[in-house]
Amino acid sequence: MGRAFVYVIVGGGVAAGYAALEFTKRGVPPGELCIVSEEPIPPYERPALSKGYLLPEAPARLPSFHTCVGANEERLTPKWYNEHGIELVLGTRVKSADVRRKTLLTATGETISYKFLIIATGARALKLEEFGLSGSDAENVCYLRNLADSNRLVNVMQSSVGGNAVVIGGGYIGMECAASLVINKIKVTMVFPEAHCMARLITPKIASYYEDYYKSKGVTFVKGTVLSSFDIDSNGKVVAVNLKDGSRLPADMVVVGIGIRPNTSLFEGQLTLEKGGIKVNGKLQSSNSSIYAVGDVATFPLKLFGESRRLEHVDSARKSARHVVAAIMEPDKTEEFDYLPFFYSRVFTLSWQFYGDNVGEVIHFGDFSGNTFGAYWVNKGHLVGSFLEGGTKEEYETLAKATRLKPAVEDLDELERQGLGFALAV
Ligand code: FAD
Ligand code: NDP
Repeated sequence: MGRAFVYVIVGGGVAAGYAALEFTKRGVPPGELCIVSEEPIPPYERPALSKGYLLPEAPARLPSFHTCVGANEERLTPKWYNEHGIELVLGTRVKSADVRRKTLLTATGETISYKFLIIATGARALKLEEFGLSGSDAENVCYLRNLADSNRLVNVMQSSVGGNAVVIGGGYIGMECAASLVINKIKVTMVFPEAHCMARLITPKIASYYEDYYKSKGVTFVKGTVLSSFDIDSNGKVVAVNLKDGSRLPADMVVVGIGIRPNTSLFEGQLTLEKGGIKVNGKLQSSNSSIYAVGDVATFPLKLFGESRRLEHVDSARKSARHVVAAIMEPDKTEEFDYLPFFYSRVFTLSWQFYGDNVGEVIHFGDFSGNTFGAYWVNKGHLVGSFLEGGTKEEYETLAKATRLKPAVEDLDELERQGLGFALAV
C-alpha cells in the first residue's frame, strides 16, 4: 500500500501547523501536502499545555488552541485541512524513513513517498530511567509533552487537591507546572540540582526574584540535590520522594521536567546530525537536498551569532516552519533564515521575555522590589541579549529590535543607569 505527495511533513506539532498555513498562503494545490503525526489530533499550540490547560477554572481546551492562534493567525481545525486538500494522517507513527528511496513507512504499514520532506518531529521528554532511576510509570508520576500527558496531569492533579506535589527539575516545565499546581491548591516542593531555578537562562539575581515570588505562594525549594528513589505503595502510587541529600518528601503526586531529546532517530545514519539535532543550512535544508528540518529537531545556523544552534522554543518552531516553506517553494527568492532567539514564559501574574544570547557580562536594571526589571548581556562590547519582566508590548518590541542590532556598549555603568532607556534610544 502506498501514496505519493509532493510535500510531506513528518510530525504534526507546532511547526507542522505553521508550515501548513504557509503552504496554503503560497497557493499549494489540494492533494500535494501530507502531514503524518503520531498524535491523534491536528497541530495545536503546545505552550497551552502547561498554562491555560491546567487551570482549575475555565481551562483552555481544544479546538480553541489549534495552530496558528498563538501568532494571531487562522485557527486550523480538521475542517480547514479538509477544505484545503491537505492530507492529515493522524495517530500514526512513522517507524522508518528511507532517504534514498524518498519514502516513509508508517506503523500501520503504509508507504508514503515524497518529493520534499520536512522533518518536524520535535522532541520527547527525558525519562528518569535515562538517569539510572526508576518509577516513571507509577500512576501519579507525570511528564508533560503532549495532550495525552496533559490530560493525565489534570486527572492526577484533581485527585491531589489539598495534598503535596514534588516537582523534579527547575527548568521551564518545572516552573510553569509548579505555578499551575499552586493554582490548583496543591502544596509544591521543587527539587533541582542547580543553585537556582532556570539556571541555563537567567542570572541568580533574577532567579531569586522568581523564587521569592514562588515562596510567597507557598512553594518550597530544595536545591543542589536530585532524586534518588521513590517510595511506591502496593497500588503502584508514589507516596514519598527520597533525595540524594538524605531527605524524604511525602508526595501525593510528582511532576518531572528534566529536559528533552530531539526526535532524530528516524534519520540517524542517513542525515548529518549536529548538537543533537538534524543539521540544516540557512535554507533549513539537511545534508540530503530533498529533506528539510524545522522546530525543536533542527540545528540551524544562527546568523546573528555566527554559530549553529538547536532551539527548543515555540517562536523558532513557528518562524522556521514559515521559512522552510518559502525556501522550498521559492528557493531563489528566499534569503537565509536570520533568526533572533526569543523565549518567554507566563506564570501567575508574572510575564517575561528574553531575546538574543545570554553570554558575556550581565547588567541588571529596573526595580527588583517592584514589578518591572530586566537585564542586558554584553559580549565583546556589544549588547547581545536582553531580558525583561513585566514589560509592555511596546517595550518588548523595542528590546527585540535593539537586541537584533547588537549595538555597541561603551560604558556598563551608563547602561545600568539608562536601563530600558538604552534600548529605546538605539
Ligand atoms: P512539536 O510541537 O513537539 O511536534 C512534534 C510532533 O511530531 C508531535 O506531534 C509528535 O507526536 C510528532 N512525531 C514525533 N515523532 C514522530 C514519528 N516518528 N512519526 C509521526 N509523528 C511523530 N516554548 C515557548 O517558547 N514558550 C512556551 O511557553 C512554551 N511552552 C511549552 C509548554 C509545554 C508543555 C511544552 C511541552 C513545550 C513548550 N514550549 C514553549 C516549547 C514549544 O512547544 C516547542 O518548542 C514546539 O512545540 C516545537 O515545535 P515542533 O513542531 O518542533 O515540535
Ligand atoms: P529544561 O531543559 O528547561 O529544564 C530541565 C531542568 O531539569 C533543568 O533545571 C535541569 O538541570 C534539571 N535536571 C536535569 N536532570 C535532572 C535530574 N536528574 N533531576 C532533577 N533535575 C534535573 O527542560 P524542561 O523539561 O523544563 O522543558 C522541556 C521542554 O519544554 C524544553 O524544550 C522547554 O523549552 C520546553 N518548554 C518551554 C516553555 C517556555 O518556553 N515557556 C514552557 C514549558 C516547556 P541542568 O540544567 O543541570 O541539566
